[in-house]
Amino acid sequence: MPQLAYVNGRIQPLADASLHVEDRGTQFGDAIYEVCAVMNGQILDWQPHLVRLRRNLAELGITLDMENGPLTLQARRLIARNGHKQCIIYMQISRGTAKRDHAFPGAAPANLVMTVRRFDFAQRIKQLATGIGVITQPDNRWGRVDIKTTGLLPNVLAKQAAKQAGAFEAWMVSGDTVREGSSTNAWIVKDGRIITHPVGTAILPGIARSSLIHLARAAQMLVEERPFTLAEALAADEAFLTSTTAPILPVVRIDGQAVGTGMPGPVVSRLADLVWAEVAQQTGWRA
Ligand code: PMP
Repeated sequence: MPQLAYVNGRIQPLADASLHVEDRGTQFGDAIYEVCAVMNGQILDWQPHLVRLRRNLAELGITLDMENGPLTLQARRLIARNGHKQCIIYMQISRGTAKRDHAFPGAAPANLVMTVRRFDFAQRIKQLATGIGVITQPDNRWGRVDIKTTGLLPNVLAKQAAKQAGAFEAWMVSGDTVREGSSTNAWIVKDGRIITHPVGTAILPGIARSSLIHLARAAQMLVEERPFTLAEALAADEAFLTSTTAPILPVVRIDGQAVGTGMPGPVVSRLADLVWAEVAQQTGWRA
């Protein structure tokens, strides 16, 4: 079965799917996006993703001429037509196609594209046993990284640096504060307290982050939303990261230095049980 994509109302083979060369997403990064996990054919945390998508559109003044109901139907239709039970759906909305000019075009309708890719979530459960390593990189992004735009060049360069270093992720550090990863949120555990950077304009408010805070607090675990330094991270008992495509992974090395024992620890293990139980509850999926 060929891969299918959605482009402005039409589902077509991915190989033929395209946007105009003057799409503002291409020329200016003038576009927002969402990535959602699909397990057992069900979209995880769909409502919070929709809320964030609408907030991003509002922040940038992009008008999408489609309500949440039809958007949900189109997303589900594309997932069903692609036929993958475990996959991710990528949705991108740009300000539209117009003659290149920095200021907003008058009447150009937004361009909405969606793609679906098969994704192996079971590998994330296997990775819980070993954990992953991160490196650090200076956070040289703009001042509104809370808006999920396609302008991801600093994130791309940071992730490539991580890949070249044999690490899974790059943690973006500003001054001595660890903000987040290039595509994940960053966490440490010290004396039983679970610590992550507060939301605001300096991090992307991750859906997996907010879900984990909920789950941890419901289980009477202590969560502190406050900035933490790289020195604190290096001295932490445990560390981990969260995202849609890596719902929770232990971080066992930072810049080659072991975190805690250098092995995944008990707090992350307990959190992972909560996270994957929530996935099973929402979607019915079990590895
Ligand atoms: N931070 C950044 C910079 C990201 O790109 C992402 C992934 N979108 C995240 C954090 C994690 O967000 P989520 O849990 O919504 O995937």
